[in-house]
Amino acid sequence: MTTEAVHYISGNWVESADREWTDVVNPATGETVGRSMRGTPGDVDRAVLAARQALPAWSAVPMADRIDVVERLAEGIAAARSRLADALVLEVGVPVSFGRAAQVGVALGDLAALVAAARDHVERTAVSNSLVVSVPVGVVAAITPWNFPLHQIVLKVGAALLAGCTVVLKPSEVSPLNAAILAEIINDLRLPAGVVNVVFGDGTGVGEPLSAHTDVDLVSFTGSRMVGERIMANAARNITKVSLELGGKSAAIILDDAPIEESAAQVLGSCFANTGQTCAALTRVLVPRELAPAWEEAALVAAAHWVPGDPAQESTVMGPAASALQADRIRGHVRAAIADGARLVVGGPASPDDLVGDAWVQPTIFADVTPQMRIFREEVFGPVLAISVYDTAEEAIALANDSDYGLAGGVWSANPQRALDVALRIQTGTIGINGAGLDVGAPFGGVKQSGIGRECGVHGFEEFLETKSIMGAT
Ligand code: NAD
Repeated sequence: MTTEAVHYISGNWVESADREWTDVVNPATGETVGRSMRGTPGDVDRAVLAARQALPAWSAVPMADRIDVVERLAEGIAAARSRLADALVLEVGVPVSFGRAAQVGVALGDLAALVAAARDHVERTAVSNSLVVSVPVGVVAAITPWNFPLHQIVLKVGAALLAGCTVVLKPSEVSPLNAAILAEIINDLRLPAGVVNVVFGDGTGVGEPLSAHTDVDLVSFTGSRMVGERIMANAARNITKVSLELGGKSAAIILDDAPIEESAAQVLGSCFANTGQTCAALTRVLVPRELAPAWEEAALVAAAHWVPGDPAQESTVMGPAASALQADRIRGHVRAAIADGARLVVGGPASPDDLVGDAWVQPTIFADVTPQMRIFREEVFGPVLAISVYDTAEEAIALANDSDYGLAGGVWSANPQRALDVALRIQTGTIGINGAGLDVGAPFGGVKQSGIGRECGVHGFEEFLETKSIMGAT
């Protein structure tokens, strides 16, 4: 097992000059299970320089060869599936079976969809009287969070490599071990030095200087809305392009002809999987007033499936929160909901009785939630569902859109056309009908304060390209 994460810069494993480390803590036990280098602005400079120097040669590599590299990257990830899932258990508390199937599985799906997009890509087209060519955006700073760390990294690194860009990756300091394994896989690809560089560290030491760097061409960030604002402000100093995948407070709309048990199980699946630490989780549910008691009852039944337990066990469906700090934040949101007058259906702010440690939280459902309550508006990033009632479909649409965020959503109805009509009116970047979840071939991203830009498939690939018009060439 990889338990130490050191920087990977210009094809070499390097330590920061001051050799400071950050502990990696197993949230299920509180034990220290590894450590990662705490990078500095000097490390960022070295990595950006390496990426800049590698850019001309890498961007000239034919697409077929870049595709071959990304396919070999996917093979390396597939071969390391168990190692990666074990690392996710240790550093994030992800249940091992979910880690293997969903976390590593989705990363492989991401790469396959990006490769398909790159294969179909037409690099040169005639537009009006000009030749329009697509060129790599350049040096990419990729800054990623801890919740689906591998998925979030490969969406950026895979697309960048296919587009002919070079990369400096800064993974979350909470989950460096899976990124360290990925760096080993990348090292085995024997790419030219500097094409992919990984600098470990926190927001202050690495994220800030990387997003403010004058020699970065695109900052591709996934994380919180608050840090997204910092990234955008830093990048604005150099008019650097940004792509921001931020938070959400996504609504599930249950129309009056929707199947009750099925929709309740699916909404809870979205809200509680990964201990609720999913940006697109459906965390608000809007239910017709007359169906509310039955839907609440069905949700209570479905909630019995979500029992927190040891993430290393194959049968476990819910692990701890990713850290004691994250659990504290979740409990704070639960207390705020109670203080605001929401009715607790199940769960609550206490830790589950039988589990020892600071990172455990109970899956929680609130009912009678109104738009004035904090639990209706604020992203929890934990397994907490808020049920609100509505009287007309118009009101349901207005409630769903009454959010600063606009990442995802869901609509349930026995009538697909009715569901589509509602879905078209919800202000989000993605929305699923009758339980449809992430489609890695379709664009993923948000509107409003959920971000700028799209990841996944063709649209995610194109974020890493610039278009250039050559007049007089046709
Ligand atoms: P975070 O914003 O705290 O951290 C994300 C990354 O930014 C980490 O690598 C962190 O070290 C770095 N960072 C922190 N401060 C920084 C700064 N000042 N400058 C530059 N970089 C800095 O987010 P998190 O807690 O790791 O992840 C949870 C958040 O991510 C949630 O809000 C969630 O909704 C969001 N998220 C969004 C998506 C999406 O695709 N829309 C996906 C997953 C997570």
